[in-house]
Amino acid sequence: MNCLYGISRIIEKNSSLTDTFKKIVDVIPSAWQFPEITCARIALDDKSFQTKNFRETTWKQTSKIHVHGKQVGILEVFYLEDKPEIDEGPFLKEEMKLINSIAERVGRIIERRQAEEDLIQYRKHLEELVEKRTNEFTIANKQLQQEVIKHKQTELALQESENKFKSLFNNTNDAIFMHDLNGFFLEVNEIACKRLGYNRNELLQMNTVDINNAEYVKRISELNKEISEKGHAIFETVHVRKDGSTIPTELSSRIIDFRGKKAILCIGRDITDRKLAEENIKKYINELKYSNELKNLFTDIMRHDLLNPASVVKGFVDFLLDIEKDEEKIQAIKTIERNNKKLIDILESAAKFSKMESIEELEFKKMDIGLIIKEVVGNFKPQLEEKQMILDFAIKGIYISKVNKVIEDVFSNLLSNAIKYSPKESRIIINIIDAGDEWKVEVTDFGEGISDENKLQVFNRFKRVGKGGVKGIGLGLAIVKRIVDLHGGRVGVEDNPAGQGSIFWVTLRKA
Ligand code: ADP
Repeated sequence: MNCLYGISRIIEKNSSLTDTFKKIVDVIPSAWQFPEITCARIALDDKSFQTKNFRETTWKQTSKIHVHGKQVGILEVFYLEDKPEIDEGPFLKEEMKLINSIAERVGRIIERRQAEEDLIQYRKHLEELVEKRTNEFTIANKQLQQEVIKHKQTELALQESENKFKSLFNNTNDAIFMHDLNGFFLEVNEIACKRLGYNRNELLQMNTVDINNAEYVKRISELNKEISEKGHAIFETVHVRKDGSTIPTELSSRIIDFRGKKAILCIGRDITDRKLAEENIKKYINELKYSNELKNLFTDIMRHDLLNPASVVKGFVDFLLDIEKDEEKIQAIKTIERNNKKLIDILESAAKFSKMESIEELEFKKMDIGLIIKEVVGNFKPQLEEKQMILDFAIKGIYISKVNKVIEDVFSNLLSNAIKYSPKESRIIINIIDAGDEWKVEVTDFGEGISDENKLQVFNRFKRVGKGGVKGIGLGLAIVKRIVDLHGGRVGVEDNPAGQGSIFWVTLRKA
């Protein structure tokens, strides 16, 4: 009993199995009849524990150690000396029971320890599993959180883009309609509702044919064909409001995907103002046409109906001057002659200007403009002599340019003006300057000159700078400019650097 009690205490200490078994074998001899000659051994599969005096003898008592019904070892007690035979050899029946009960205890200790070990292992495994799962869970949780953030961001972006779309959709100046391929409205913006006088729900029950005029309805299949072939189309229509009034509209239509289906997006622009402007332009063009016809008629009248009688007058004036001897009458006839010449000049330059205005292109020939100017100068000899003026012009070379014969009029006009607007006995200089690709012809006079504000205006039709006592109708320089323009050249006027008078110049391309 003491032995079993001792073993129980050893077991309770819960030391390692090795310690426990060592202590158990040491306690065993004390429970046998002759402790001093008793030795014991616990022999397990892989290890054995024995008393210090252990020695195998023929006097032995054994008991198998079982764990979960399976033998794992043996407990042996030996007498070191021969003792008289009792119950079982030299051993008592009680000793037999005792060894069995110790062997059973050892088996249970092992079972318990194994169970504990298993439990520890299992716990460890469980803890590892929990840790692993916790880690996995933490990672998954983090991923989930990130997903949630991403989702929220996407949702925000989506919301933002939808808001932007809505604000664009509703804040444009154009009416926007979305309709299916059969013309039934799927969505409309606020402007569309406002412009047509329907509310959104009303429009969403309607079809494009309900808001367009009959003309559009007739063309609808042709327009739909164009949209489906090209993907988009722009055309004009007339929208009809709820109250029956109309709005000229330009529709820009395009095929889109709307809620997973093909639809047509139409942007309707109110073109009332544009239509009005077009009407006005049409009216203006008609007016212009009419006034152009009037101008042509007037030019014809001038050329034929006025110029002919004036020429007849000239003929009779010449005849009268030839035969008249009375000085007083001669002076009166000369007044008629002067005024008739003025009339003929006016009619001729107006006719020329009108002709020049209608010409779009001239035929050019290579000519020496030096020689042309020389000829023009020759024609003005009488006028120059009359005002006792000196003309400086010397040909120093050949000045070939591609020009039309009308170029003569340019030089005639400039020289005529220089004489007309300069005092008696003053000088006129004509220069031809080599200016790279072009010739620059300058006519310099020492007359009164032209103020800066009038320098550009003098080339405009009928712009006559107020000068008393001079002749002309303000068409000469306009003709000059037109002819030079037709030659692809430029015209201009500058002050004469000598301090008095002006320099009129034209450029002509070299050939
Ligand atoms: P017109 O001489 O028949 O009036 P022009 O078109 O030839 O018509 O000239 C327009 C105006 O420019 C003239 O009325 C005159 O006032 C001014 N002008 C032209 N040439 C000269 C010049 N050489 N000097 C000063 N003024 C000039």
